Amino acid sequence: MQIYNSQTRKKETFVPLKPGHVGIYACGPTVYDYFHIGNARPFIVFDVLRRYLEYRGYQVTFVQNFTDIDDKMIHRANEEGISVKELGDRFIKEYYQDAGALGVRPATVHPRATEHMSQIIKLIQQLIDRGLAYENKGSVYYHTAGFPEYGKLSGQDMEDLDAGARIDVDEEKRSAADFALWKAEKPGEPVWDSPWGKGRPGWHIECSAMSMTYLGDTIDIHAGGKDLLFPHHENEIAQSEGATGQPFVRYWMHNGFLNIDNEKMSKSLGNFFTVRDILKEYDAEDVRMFMLSAQYRSPLNFSRESIAQAHASLTRLYTARDHLAFLLEKAPDRVSDAQEEGFLQRVQTYRDRFDEAMDDDLNTAGAIGVLFELVYDCNTTLTEHSARAAIAGAQQALNELSDVLGLLMKQADALPHEVQTLADQRAQARQQKDWAASDALRKQLHELGYQVEDTPAGQKLSKV
Ligand code: AMP
Ligand code: ZN
Repeated sequence: MQIYNSQTRKKETFVPLKPGHVGIYACGPTVYDYFHIGNARPFIVFDVLRRYLEYRGYQVTFVQNFTDIDDKMIHRANEEGISVKELGDRFIKEYYQDAGALGVRPATVHPRATEHMSQIIKLIQQLIDRGLAYENKGSVYYHTAGFPEYGKLSGQDMEDLDAGARIDVDEEKRSAADFALWKAEKPGEPVWDSPWGKGRPGWHIECSAMSMTYLGDTIDIHAGGKDLLFPHHENEIAQSEGATGQPFVRYWMHNGFLNIDNEKMSKSLGNFFTVRDILKEYDAEDVRMFMLSAQYRSPLNFSRESIAQAHASLTRLYTARDHLAFLLEKAPDRVSDAQEEGFLQRVQTYRDRFDEAMDDDLNTAGAIGVLFELVYDCNTTLTEHSARAAIAGAQQALNELSDVLGLLMKQADALPHEVQTLADQRAQARQQKDWAASDALRKQLHELGYQVEDTPAGQKLSKV
């Protein structure tokens, strides 16, 4: 597989550190509110990355943190008159609900910053011991000038960085590019004990501490939105490599931004949507299909039309799946003929091309395109006279490949018992050439919301 590595700015062949195993760390949400539709993009695309690597036979450890202590958390908890812990508990629960609806599997581990204070404090102490951090008035800062490689991810020069940044009045750091690892106690903020007095961790240190805890010193893939590249991920490198002396990340993956109607999503523009709100209006799987309709690094535009398009695409896949199930039920038990053998060979080439697209830096748009080719071939090649093996081969390919994308997750509706009984009676009436009874039963079925189509392979029911 080729992965575009943001650090080297080119596609590289993916080779995990430990053969057969992949460790992924993805920066997760700050749990001060419902997550928004922009956040949903990394959650969905990196869920697909994980599914794809598993499908290719890797054992994947996927870690995604919850940032449950920072300025936004404190501010919101104060507004609501609840503790930061209660706020975190609440929106972690809401995260699971919305992510689950979008087909995003829970990570192997979802560590919370506030539950890893001892690891965070230990890491900060290590940096102080190595001369890479200093304490000042109860706060601890990273000494960026002590880490010569600072800026290597974002491709920036230390001098430019220092000149471009400014020091906030309440900060006691030596240089503008330095950043807080530990923040001294302030009134009204939750605090933890530390060797430097009471305080709370800075944001960047949690990801270094928690990735180290669950994935070791070097991780295979670190993922997040491209807004995190600087300073968050640059700082993570400085912290982790500064402390361990080992390479921190082998492949950096950053997703492009989601815009709304071609504008940056922002509260002030009034185009800010939480996933919870979006799902009141749109089907969750349509949203997922839309998110995968572009390669993850390109910008993606959310609009009513783009969701409608995703809906139409998904419907085509579902219709094909239902049709294959219908054909399979009627399929004659005979050996495949030459035409069907040719078809099965083409199914294998669709599988190969799907993998090729995904191997090309997770090109989900290309992979979905291949699924449509498969479906088109099924629709034009297979009939009710096709051999079972041909239909089953296509069905298996469609199911397995859409599973990799987390699509077609809705189970085919079983017919309600009453509908099935009427359908059976109608089939019997037709066998006995009792057309009047057959018509009456068709009407009854229609009243229950089902329309009947008579095909050479028998009757086919679908919802009106
Ligand atoms: P946050 O809770 O803001 O730290 O964001 C969680 C994840 O969502 C991070 O990986 C961000 O980079 C990503 N993210 C935030 N806004 C957007 C957006 N509009 N489009 C795509 N990704 C985003
Ligand atoms: Zn992070």
